[in-house]
Amino acid sequence: MNIVVLDGYTLNPGDLTWKDLEALGPCAVYDRSAPEEVVPRAKDAEIILTNKTVLSPDIIKKLPKLKYIGVLATGYNIVDIETAHDKDIPVTNVPTYGTQSVAQIVFAHLLNLAHHAAHHAQTVKSGRWTSSPDFCYWDTPLIELAGLTMGIIGFGRIGRATAKLALAFGMNVIFYDIAKPSSIPEGCQSAGLDDIFQTSDIISLHCPLTSDTKKIINKERLEMMKKTAFLINTSRGPLVDEQALAEALNNESIAGAGLDVLSEEPPDENNPLLTARNCYITPHIAWATLAARKRLLQVAIDNVASFLDGKPQNVVNGVKFLPDETK
Ligand code: NAD
Repeated sequence: MNIVVLDGYTLNPGDLTWKDLEALGPCAVYDRSAPEEVVPRAKDAEIILTNKTVLSPDIIKKLPKLKYIGVLATGYNIVDIETAHDKDIPVTNVPTYGTQSVAQIVFAHLLNLAHHAAHHAQTVKSGRWTSSPDFCYWDTPLIELAGLTMGIIGFGRIGRATAKLALAFGMNVIFYDIAKPSSIPEGCQSAGLDDIFQTSDIISLHCPLTSDTKKIINKERLEMMKKTAFLINTSRGPLVDEQALAEALNNESIAGAGLDVLSEEPPDENNPLLTARNCYITPHIAWATLAARKRLLQVAIDNVASFLDGKPQNVVNGVKFLPDETK
């Protein structure tokens, strides 16, 4: 079957190989595809892999040969899964590949806010320490994490991995999740959402983007937070009302933010967070360690192989029936 990868560049900018996918069938890999390029490029494809290129109802209907859509990510909101379902096209995702990497970048942001190591190292490089009258100096408050309370919203895979790291730093962990947790790790405590906002020194978001969680960080909730608190968002940009967060940072009503995601990616140059006080933004890189991308690519290829074997795995749109020729 013909395979088309619509936007392979971010997963594999050159340090991984498509060889195992190419072994499964004729394969065209595009670095990226503009919306108007999708149909011409994929018109003969039976298998499409997409990371962030949107497959709308209209586009799916224009691809009559299409039998399978593989999403090169966990979140699959870029594919209209109902239209795919109506056409008996299974849509698969990669449910877990980067849990440890995402939890790790939470601490990259948190340690940056606590020490501003890069800033201080830069001042040393520019000669300030050599001409300092004292044996040390610092420009920002230096914060010990031990004893602080981390409030985690969304206590799933990444939330729990983050909790484990927080406990290792000697922090207290409270969490809020809509689902009743199957187990609560020692040292963690369930809390109401208001408690999380009022008592946390650090709030870290790990819930998915849904109609309930959109702008879960808003003006009212930011006002409930401690003036010394930090917000970390490595989950999805639209969880945050960005104007409200920028105002809270600029008014010093919270102390700082570390963000790996924004509501629009890449962001508009007028996004108020780009210039907000003590706000550090990374360009959606939590998932992108080499180890995590290797796992992602392997599972995405395994998903295609399982489909070709007539036993699709990681299907997110409930398609069980498979066209005869794939059995
Ligand atoms: P998961 O499904 O294991 O956990 C999500 C948790 O959120 C679940 O326990 C769920 O019950 C909870 N939840 C759902 N709705 C909620 C609500 N309204 N309030 C509170 N909790 C709620 O998912 P995961 O693997 O831990 O991933 C979490 C999120 O991380 C993903 O949804 C994704 O947006 C994000 N992510 C980001 C990157 C990145 O590169 N920045 C990479 C991978 C995942």
